[in-house]
Amino acid sequence: MAKKIKAIGLLSGGLDSTLAARVLLNQGVDVKGVHFYTGFCIVGLKKVFAGQKDQPVRHEALRAGRDLGVEVDIVDISEDYLKMVTHPRHGYGSQMNPCIDCRIHMLREAKRRMELEGASFVFTGEVLGQRPMSQRRDVMNTIEREAGLRGYLLRPLSAKLLRPTIPEKEGWIDPDGLYDIQGRSRKRQIELAQKFGLTDFPQPAGGCCFLTDEHYAARFRDLLDHREAKVLTQEEVYLLAVGRHFRLSPAAKVIVGRNEKENLFLERYQDNCWAFQTVEHPGGLVLLFGPVNDELKKTAASIAARYSKDKDQSSILVKGDGPEGSERFNVRPLDDDKLDKMRI
Ligand code: SF4
Repeated sequence: MAKKIKAIGLLSGGLDSTLAARVLLNQGVDVKGVHFYTGFCIVGLKKVFAGQKDQPVRHEALRAGRDLGVEVDIVDISEDYLKMVTHPRHGYGSQMNPCIDCRIHMLREAKRRMELEGASFVFTGEVLGQRPMSQRRDVMNTIEREAGLRGYLLRPLSAKLLRPTIPEKEGWIDPDGLYDIQGRSRKRQIELAQKFGLTDFPQPAGGCCFLTDEHYAARFRDLLDHREAKVLTQEEVYLLAVGRHFRLSPAAKVIVGRNEKENLFLERYQDNCWAFQTVEHPGGLVLLFGPVNDELKKTAASIAARYSKDKDQSSILVKGDGPEGSERFNVRPLDDDKLDKMRI
């Protein structure tokens, strides 16, 4: 019996990658999915904040793998990915999303897995013209070339509009069973999903990556701009997604928890910085990062006062705990005008 052709697919669990896998499964290809954890995945942080009463957060790639009946490897690439995000060769998109470098980075890893697993090619659910940065024809060619996958990267949903790949030329798959979908409309994908009986998939507009989020990107940019070597840690990246952020000086910033879950999350970091909380009035946890002095501590305390339940009082008692010990501050809540100038 002829050995089945095996392919490695980038599987996000979204409709496009699920359809691409389905198309190949229908042709008898042995599909294995791979999903990369980048450290910027929105679903990852949602999991951290999910409380007991919340709906459990689904991992869409695992869910899609289960529905398709294929194995999915979840691979943590966050360490190297972070270095790429701070120095992307092809630049950023509309926010801080380095989509071209991101695709190259992931596909290089997929190629490595293809070789390890003895697979014959790699596939993705990319659609020509769907995304302005990474799904233009010329850019798709660049990504394929720089990932080292020339001829071995199949995009089943748009394959009829692209250069034929080796799997098509070699007859490993039937080109007639591939598609000519292009553009931003999802109409054809929805029709295809109906045809294949796929009903459970996330809404495409949901977004999966913090780097495309305007507010997150502003904080990320601010952090990079205030870091000479442009080196960030994974913990800093997580913190960017939590709370309200204020820049007090080129080296110091404040994060304010917005609710109980965020306060609990921020508590993990309070040993490495100064932490402020109102004493008599309920309020959020305020962390001050960076080299501090008396003036910065007082400002952080007045931010804590501003975010307490009694922010209209003229003076509020705030306790600050830091590596050098504890201090108490009787402060006036910071004016919103001043606060807005510091807001990131
Ligand atoms: S949106 Fe984020 S995960 Fe998607 S390609 Fe761009 S950088 Fe990568």
